Amino acid sequence: MEVAAVRLLRGGSLLGRNYPTCLSSWKTPRALWSSQSEALLSPTHSGLPCAPLQTFTDEEAMMKSAVKKFAQEQIAPLVSTMDENSKMEKSVIQGLFQQGLMAVDVDTKYGGTGASFFSFVLVVEELSKVDASVALICDVQNTVVNGLIRKHGTEEQKAAYLTQLATKKVGSFCLSEAGAGSDSFALKTRADKKGDYYVISGSKMWITSAREAELFLVMANVDPSAGYKGITCFIVDRDAEGFHVGKAENKLGIRASSTCPLTLDNVKVPEANILGQVGHGYKYAIGSLNEGRIGIAAQMLGLAQGCFDYTIPYIKERMQFGKRLFDFQGLQHQVAHVATQLEAARLLTYNAARLVDAGRPFVKEAAMAKYHASEVAGLTTSKCIEWMGGVGYTKDYPVEKYFRDAKIGTIYEGASNIQLNTIAKLLDAEH
Ligand SMILES: Cc1cc2nc3c(=O)[nH]c(=O)nc-3n(C[C@H](O)[C@H](O)[C@H](O)COP(=O)(O)OP(=O)(O)OC[C@H]3O[C@@H](n4cnc5c(N)ncnc54)[C@H](O)[C@@H]3O)c2cc1C
Repeated sequence: MEVAAVRLLRGGSLLGRNYPTCLSSWKTPRALWSSQSEALLSPTHSGLPCAPLQTFTDEEAMMKSAVKKFAQEQIAPLVSTMDENSKMEKSVIQGLFQQGLMAVDVDTKYGGTGASFFSFVLVVEELSKVDASVALICDVQNTVVNGLIRKHGTEEQKAAYLTQLATKKVGSFCLSEAGAGSDSFALKTRADKKGDYYVISGSKMWITSAREAELFLVMANVDPSAGYKGITCFIVDRDAEGFHVGKAENKLGIRASSTCPLTLDNVKVPEANILGQVGHGYKYAIGSLNEGRIGIAAQMLGLAQGCFDYTIPYIKERMQFGKRLFDFQGLQHQVAHVATQLEAARLLTYNAARLVDAGRPFVKEAAMAKYHASEVAGLTTSKCIEWMGGVGYTKDYPVEKYFRDAKIGTIYEGASNIQLNTIAKLLDAEH
């Protein structure tokens, strides 16, 4: 059952990247690294300045409202149980595929929705308002799994794997190991060439969606003497002999999203399953994580907004000292401060996503968006619990879950300090 927006997108009239007019003129080959902080004046054809960041194309507006409806109708009733059981309902994953949300910016010829990266960011934001775990399975699939194959796969690999990832198979991105977290290129998993195949041995940790995934993009080193320049990306099937998915971690938050260790015990992988070039895995990982960070920023933004939207009506109703809580100026100032931080996080996130679609440098902006949105999610969810008082601290209301879910934003896809390192490095180069 497809939602109207996705049906329309697939139907063709709105297919392809559909930008506000003022953005089209920025479209240049996608580049990395940082943009300068000065704003560029980019007049539209009518001579008017650029539209505000929160201006959506028809395609984007439709995606947003279709995902909102899907999340409210099909995910919201299951959120608390999925959190309690640490398990994603199959119907939710099926729903994500049916709605075209597991391959938002993948070309329709591979079964994708063919929308823009910005549309994907709106999808993650809307899903996260309801459940950050569901948003994560969608985020990882779109940014790091599909993204890597879309950019570096051969035509045969795209036809085979993107089609499966768009329609039925969950994928995982496997970089981290016990001894290689922030320092991820210190990974020890090895791939040894034997004729026309490789033998992979090692272990991975913290792999999102591993319980459900059928395809794994595994980073392994083919030549440890070359250091990180030996890192190569392999497409590994779940059924490969010697490949084992361990027990899911029992986590503080995003509990419905599985996070598992992997062991690879002499797993034979055909040479044809190398993604891109041998020794280029580190470059590919950096590139996909740079875009991935915008997805995590959208996740943090969405969950913070969802928590805020839940809490405000409560404090407008709850009476103490003969007044609504919202009528106390001390509380109003806190609400106004959080709302301002949320708006800033949204603008950073949307701007970074627009830069990706426009093919302009975005690395600094992506790091800023992820760093700031994670901080704002922590602040917002903590304040919402305080504003609701005792009931906010119980599991009878969703705000404590939002609070638990928010913490991960400061850790994965580059911890907050790593984002600050990136920002500082790029500022150093700019000035
Ligand atoms: C729920 C979850 C899902 C995940 N999903 C995936 C996945 O799908 N695939 C995958 O490959 N990985 C995944 N990860 C791994 C994640 O990316 C790492 O946890 C993250 O990179 C941090 O690594 P670490 O946990 O080893 O922490 P560490 O690297 O030990 O860092 C601990 C602290 O030290 C700080 N620190 C480290 N280095 C520096 C430095 N140079 N300067 C300043 N401070 C520093 C960090 O900021 C952090 O606060 C996931 C992790 C979690 C918890």
